[in-house]
Amino acid sequence: MAHFRLLKNPDKYVAVDWDLIEDDCGRGYWLGLFEKHFGTTLSHALVRYGPTARPKIEAARGDFAGIIRRLREDPSALPGGRLNIIELCRMRERTLRSHGLGDPFSHIKDRENTAAMAIYRQVLARLAAVPRRRRWLRLIEGVFAGNIFDLGSASTMHLAEQPQDFFRTMDLLKKRPWLADDFDTLDGLLAAAPPTPWAKAIIFVDNAGSDFVLGVMPLARELALCGMKVVLTANELPVLNDMTIEDTRRILGLLAGLDGELKILLADGMIQTVSSGNDIPLIDLSEVSDELNAAAADADLVIMEGMGRAVESNYRAEMAADYLRLALLKDEKVAARVGGGLYDCVCRFTAKTDG
Ligand code: MG
Repeated sequence: MAHFRLLKNPDKYVAVDWDLIEDDCGRGYWLGLFEKHFGTTLSHALVRYGPTARPKIEAARGDFAGIIRRLREDPSALPGGRLNIIELCRMRERTLRSHGLGDPFSHIKDRENTAAMAIYRQVLARLAAVPRRRRWLRLIEGVFAGNIFDLGSASTMHLAEQPQDFFRTMDLLKKRPWLADDFDTLDGLLAAAPPTPWAKAIIFVDNAGSDFVLGVMPLARELALCGMKVVLTANELPVLNDMTIEDTRRILGLLAGLDGELKILLADGMIQTVSSGNDIPLIDLSEVSDELNAAAADADLVIMEGMGRAVESNYRAEMAADYLRLALLKDEKVAARVGGGLYDCVCRFTAKTDG
């Protein structure tokens, strides 16, 4: 594990710049949110692991309540003395894993992946009907619409109760100009495609279901069809409803059965997969896998996808490559930090030379 090789200044890199020791109000909000979210997570864990897991679930509940209580009394109580959203995610995941409850949403991920795969071809057909010149906008909007499926956010967690309607979400998206809207720059660069202005992209994928299948994959395959190599990098371990590297490979295999062009892109190595080494819903680019760094050696575009990866962490990171952040904001406080509100869309592009 090492710093991501495309960080411009690894020594100055900070994954999350929201210090919850200094910010009393922010700390109150996040401790309350993690406390509430943990309760809902355990309800899902009960469904996933069954009634025999009840003692483990109650033990995890007690442990995490203890952590939150301690942090309310002494915000610097964690090892290392820091407190931010990444540290809270780590504590939550450590608690779940230590009680054998490390994958409480796998049944919902499976359901959402199946539902999304059922309309994958329909999504591709709708995109194919749009002239290529206008297709990039639809692809980016697809990433936003897909990203609404997020069990890490209190505002969208209730969506776990029922399968998502991707087309309806597309229709309800906020119209441009978005909160952060560098789409025209991006579109200008892509106007001449193929070939694309980049040789190779690293895409940090986020959630399962519509997010990966209907948002990220249509974009990734379009970039690859324009002649660009695309590396999909996913978490090593399960966390919330994020795609793991194992999920990514399995779902790609199933999608290849539905999509002849994707099958060829995979066979030709135009779309590849690597583990990021990550095990939280945000990304700490000071600790990525060696295989990701090997794959990134000749990459000239980094795409960070999802609120946790692209806004809660890494929003201000500087890359030694072009850098695109795509996210739908599903938390009011996170949105407010970047001057927006709930369900705002972020399409922020920074050229290597600007960074
Ligand atoms: Mg996620």
